[in-house]
Amino acid sequence: MSHAFDNIFPIGLGTGRLLFTSPETYVTDFENAVELVLHALDQGVNYIDVGKGYSSDHAFSVLKDAFRKTNRPFHVTVKVNAYDKTRTAEDYYRESLSILDSLGLERASHFLLWTLMDSQQFHQAIEKDRLYDAALRLKQEGLIKHIGTSVHMKHEDIIEVIDSGLFEFVLISYNLINLLDMRRVLDRAFEKGVDILVMNPLYGGLIAENEDAFAYAKLQEDETMVQAAVRALLAHPAVKCVLAGASTKEQLDAYLSSVTEPTYYAQNKAERLQKVTENTTNGTAFCSYCRYCVNCPKKIPVPQIMNARNIFRLNGRNANQSLEKTFFRYLNEKFNLEFESSENPCIQCGQCERKCTQGLDIIRSVDEIYQMVGRSCYDKASRKKRFQELIYEKGYRKVGFWPASAGTIKILEIYKELLGEPTFEIFLFDSNADYHGKEKFGYTVFSKKDAIRLDIDCILITSFLHSGAIYERIQDLTAQGIDIKTLYRKDDVDWWW
Ligand code: SF4
Ligand code: SF4
Repeated sequence: MSHAFDNIFPIGLGTGRLLFTSPETYVTDFENAVELVLHALDQGVNYIDVGKGYSSDHAFSVLKDAFRKTNRPFHVTVKVNAYDKTRTAEDYYRESLSILDSLGLERASHFLLWTLMDSQQFHQAIEKDRLYDAALRLKQEGLIKHIGTSVHMKHEDIIEVIDSGLFEFVLISYNLINLLDMRRVLDRAFEKGVDILVMNPLYGGLIAENEDAFAYAKLQEDETMVQAAVRALLAHPAVKCVLAGASTKEQLDAYLSSVTEPTYYAQNKAERLQKVTENTTNGTAFCSYCRYCVNCPKKIPVPQIMNARNIFRLNGRNANQSLEKTFFRYLNEKFNLEFESSENPCIQCGQCERKCTQGLDIIRSVDEIYQMVGRSCYDKASRKKRFQELIYEKGYRKVGFWPASAGTIKILEIYKELLGEPTFEIFLFDSNADYHGKEKFGYTVFSKKDAIRLDIDCILITSFLHSGAIYERIQDLTAQGIDIKTLYRKDDVDWWW
């Protein structure tokens, strides 16, 4: 019996993450994206996943241009979603033709009923004169070859879809986090001869970014985390292809090395599957960063918050780190996200939860995160208030900052951003005698004894780790009329990293 994914390379290209950064860089971004597609095809990739709206709606035109420039064989999916209950098979058929036209193709190999969220949607899609009928017509007319579906459903619903016998392949979110949960689905798919195509293999980057927590998946010491994670998925015989949602050639090559490097994968598949199974714990409460929950009416960055919140789900594996700090750092470094205030603007409309592919408790989680933002003094309003309590408009003419570090300079920048140019003169102090009298960051660095000579009004200790020790060292200056204050309080996270 032939399968939908016979002769398909085990890594496919997902085109939802092509880099389009701004209208100004469109031409270069477009050329780079086309090159990425051509590079994938040159490396043997022959399955490409694309959908309306992918990569700021540019993915279709990128592929159209790439397909014109290559003689390599490729398979591509026409994906149509069944959300709109008023549409008929004719509407879906026309939409499919329009997608083929956008891709510059007369026919495509695969057709996908896109994103069935539950059993009810599945039944709607396969009703007479609905989406599935459109797929059948396309197949009868030779415009597509294989019909499949992508699902974000409970496992028993996925099994119902598999058991229906209507689909040759099913696209699922599968990775080291839900590996155990999905075993039943995969076993049933294998038994029924339904090919499994995998999306989200690295859980939105979480797995590669938390190597310590997932290193158990490595069978060989020299495997990269991406290789081990992808090989673990391909170890199940139902899985035929893993989609690499790459933005750059380097990212794509990291995926490709999972199947092209010699230690892979024909050998050791069973051993690998057993090893990851023994070590995996189910993590259904993880956000996969699918971003279906975007467009919050109150502009809350829900996918980013929920994705960073995964850090707390890794608790126990990353036990010796400050998880709150790791959370904020992740938000900052990965998403460049800052909070104006710790007041949660959520109106509990429920839109995000209805769309969440992982069934996450978003409203409660968002509220917890905003509480944590306030508690940790991470938002701009809390920091402004902190400065107001400490040094702003206190009548100080000369304020010293201790230590003379890059962190202190960053904190001064934050002060200026929040409260404007200071009305006091700034002095830098440090414990290190090597710095005294020298210039650092454009300021002369002074010692404790200089504070009295300079007639300093207040010294603000800005060290996160050593503020207690510094305070001990200089607190006797209070007897000389100098206020000694610390920026950070219990429960704060660093204001910079
Ligand atoms: S429930 Fe809250 S977070 Fe979710 S979309 Fe509505 S306002 Fe935004
Ligand atoms: S829909 Fe759910 S899983 Fe997807 S990004 Fe939003 S919170 Fe995460």
